Amino acid sequence: MTDCLFCKMVKGEIPPDIVYEDKDVLAFRDINPQAPTHVLVVPKEHISTINDLDYAHTELVGKMFMGARKVAELEGIAEPGYRTVMNCNEAAGQTVFHIHLHVLGGREMHWPPG
Ligand code: 5GP
Ligand code: ZN
Repeated sequence: MTDCLFCKMVKGEIPPDIVYEDKDVLAFRDINPQAPTHVLVVPKEHISTINDLDYAHTELVGKMFMGARKVAELEGIAEPGYRTVMNCNEAAGQTVFHIHLHVLGGREMHWPPG
């Protein structure tokens, strides 16, 4: 996807503030953080929404969570705890249509979310 913001970050055309990277995922700081730690874990493959996942992506989604776990360790929020969120489509608040797992921590989280 040539006009996708997160694909441009994966390709290095727009340099993000990288927290973690492996061959399958890239994790970088959110430009508008909602918590002291707010990192987005994105697959290097372009997938627009959760609705576009198929069974071939099962392992990749697991790797996104392994990336989130690694980010939590690196950020020192693993033990106090953190939240992972993936929004799907407009009603849930998705604004960038390349799936991403939000990793939020460093403050008390409230429930239910808005
Ligand atoms: P969504 O609303 O789709 O679940 O999350 C998209 C996230 O991407 C938002 O939290 C937003 O702040 C973040 N974001 C949007 N544009 C940029 C950008 O250019 N750089 C970074 N690092 N994050 C961005
Ligand atoms: Zn993309």
